[in-house]
Amino acid sequence: MNKSELQQHDRDHLLHPFTDFNDLGKQGTRVITGAEGAYITDIDGHKMLDGMSGLWCCSLGYSRREISDAIYEQLNKLPFYNSFFQCTTVPSIELADALAEVAPKGLNNVFFTGSGSEANDTNLRIIRRYWDLKEQPEKRIVISRKNAYHGSTIGGASLGGMGGMHKQFQALDYIEHIEQPYWFGEGGELSPEEFGIKAARALDEKIQELGPEKVAAFIAEPIQGAGGVIIPPESYWPEVKKVLDQYDILLVMDEVIFGFGRTGEWFGADYYGLQPDLMTFAKAVTNGYFPLGGTMVSDRVAEVIKSRGGEFAHGYTYSAHPAGCMAGLATVNILRNEKIIENVRDNTAPYLARRWAELGDHPIVGEARSLGMVGALELVKDKNSRARFDDDCTAGGVCRDMSIKHGLVMRATGDTMIIAPPLILTTEQVDELVEKAHRALDDTAKAMA
Ligand SMILES: *Cc1c(COP(=O)(O)O)cnc(C)c1O
Repeated sequence: MNKSELQQHDRDHLLHPFTDFNDLGKQGTRVITGAEGAYITDIDGHKMLDGMSGLWCCSLGYSRREISDAIYEQLNKLPFYNSFFQCTTVPSIELADALAEVAPKGLNNVFFTGSGSEANDTNLRIIRRYWDLKEQPEKRIVISRKNAYHGSTIGGASLGGMGGMHKQFQALDYIEHIEQPYWFGEGGELSPEEFGIKAARALDEKIQELGPEKVAAFIAEPIQGAGGVIIPPESYWPEVKKVLDQYDILLVMDEVIFGFGRTGEWFGADYYGLQPDLMTFAKAVTNGYFPLGGTMVSDRVAEVIKSRGGEFAHGYTYSAHPAGCMAGLATVNILRNEKIIENVRDNTAPYLARRWAELGDHPIVGEARSLGMVGALELVKDKNSRARFDDDCTAGGVCRDMSIKHGLVMRATGDTMIIAPPLILTTEQVDELVEKAHRALDDTAKAMA
């Protein structure tokens, strides 16, 4: 099939996730046909630096034969077996071992799932089971944040705080949302530090309002990813930690984006010095080569679940899929052996931070922020008042299209442009990324004038 035939058949038969079908009907889909290193190529032969690592998952880029070979070899040896009913497989044990080694201290158990959404559903099941076994069944409520993303199952989407998603389904009634630590958008006249404290105090206020004896857990991404790479002010996490330490409430870190090196540490919890009770992972654990997720469970929680008896009545057919586990093991081995994360921390991330900050001088950029290997640009009509171009956030879509034209995949979240490029980027490729982003900004300024 040629390109227009592919697009027609796509329209006829494929229902796409997170897609406006009207737009898709008008523009047609972009057909991606190949990839190499940090680049993807579409059906027209247009090559683009992938500033989003696929969907935050291909941190090592697209050319790691070790991972695809590991999957292939496992499929030929034992393509499937489950880990229900006292069965296990060698790859699942080996990956569990490796994850316990690289995870923050105290997280030594893992429950495997097929995705990040499923892992957050698993978290909800573990949280309930934990407090029931502790004979505190009144602890039921989970606090999350507005504009958080925790997946798209009913559990994941209920935990998430995306208004557009909540309009389209009925959320679980035991989940509450507090304000997000989004200084540029919501900080007003406060300094970032003051605003970080205020956003953290909102957790305390919510706990007081609900009654600490009813609150089971607090879930958060270390940095909100899909919400627009919202890097909390430095005062935020230490203050949240103080609040949580006062109460007997579990901390769930959703590390689906930031796990496996994106901050320059293994996990966001390491970066912020936090000790989560549960830690969701997916995406980069297999470098996007196989659908696999899971939750790391702290000794404190695992001990209760394991020792108090009774079946934990939860699991997925593909929990600990052997091929997925081999993909995870190959990925962790590459990260370790090639010191990818250390290189991000010591070289690439500081270089990206310096170059990305330069984009803050552009006339339509209200803020350029980055941390580790993520970055965001706030597109504005007026730098001083932070006023946007319009209420429909058209600048973001324009900038995304301009960026793709110039050979760089950036994503638009409203009028916030975001990047999460592969961790393997060289400093030359960082230069290329920044130069292409700059050109996209110039074109966007012209188009919006
Ligand atoms: C992508 C994502 C999820 C959901 O993972 P899926 O594998 O798409 O189900 C959950 N949490 C965060 C923070 C994510 O970015």
